[in-house]
Amino acid sequence: MRTPIMAGNWKMYKTAREATDTVRSLGEQVAGVTGVEVVVCPPFTALPSAVAAASGSRIAVGAQDCYWEKEGAYTGEISVAMLAELGCRYVIVGHSERRQYFGETDATVDKKIGAVLHQGLTCIGCLGETLQERESGQTFAVLERQVRGGFARHLSASHLVIAYEPVWAIGTGKTATPAQAQEAHAFLRGLVKEVAGPGVASAIRILYGGSVKPDNIAALMAQPDVDGGLVGGASLEAGSFAKIVAGAAQTRKT
Ligand code: PEP
Repeated sequence: MRTPIMAGNWKMYKTAREATDTVRSLGEQVAGVTGVEVVVCPPFTALPSAVAAASGSRIAVGAQDCYWEKEGAYTGEISVAMLAELGCRYVIVGHSERRQYFGETDATVDKKIGAVLHQGLTCIGCLGETLQERESGQTFAVLERQVRGGFARHLSASHLVIAYEPVWAIGTGKTATPAQAQEAHAFLRGLVKEVAGPGVASAIRILYGGSVKPDNIAALMAQPDVDGGLVGGASLEAGSFAKIVAGAAQTRKT
């Protein structure tokens, strides 16, 4: 069985103090939920306070990005070892906002995934098509290019998680229908099978991201190949994220 993950991507929201309050409140609200990994990914500056506030709760903390080198003259960058030392257990890599605004490519995603896994942290590697790519019938070709270019070398690592995030659904309020999500997830699992074999394909967790909300999580999680969510806006408020976590726990597949 694949244990579901609900990961909150806080993007560039929340100071250290705000992160402390949200993590404490979320920790109380998800205390009784079992069978779901709950992760919050605050900005770098709020990581220490989030880790401290999460201590003793069932919340794990992740970062939103990293650099692949261990150390060096890379002004502004943060290594995975630095994140691990703070108590981070997850790192998001290749988010579409990093690809769109900060020049992330399949080649850099490949290096970053390698660095995260090498450090023993769980990597949530993101991919997904734009609206224009979907409308021109290129969805599967884009996903295949992203998997082969950024993920293929790492697929058999048990700490690799794929997040399918159609770009047109991120922050737009436009969620993929459960059928659209399932179609993409099934395609991705099939591709993983082709590249890394059936054992890896049946074990790897594939999260859906894109306007996940408390009222759509159950239908998404009911899909056989959806193993959790990467949640942006609706993870910023503890009450709403706790409802999503509870929804995922209720629809957990056995
Ligand atoms: C995200 O940031 O990964 C995301 C899916 O955002 P939202 O849930 O706000 O669409």
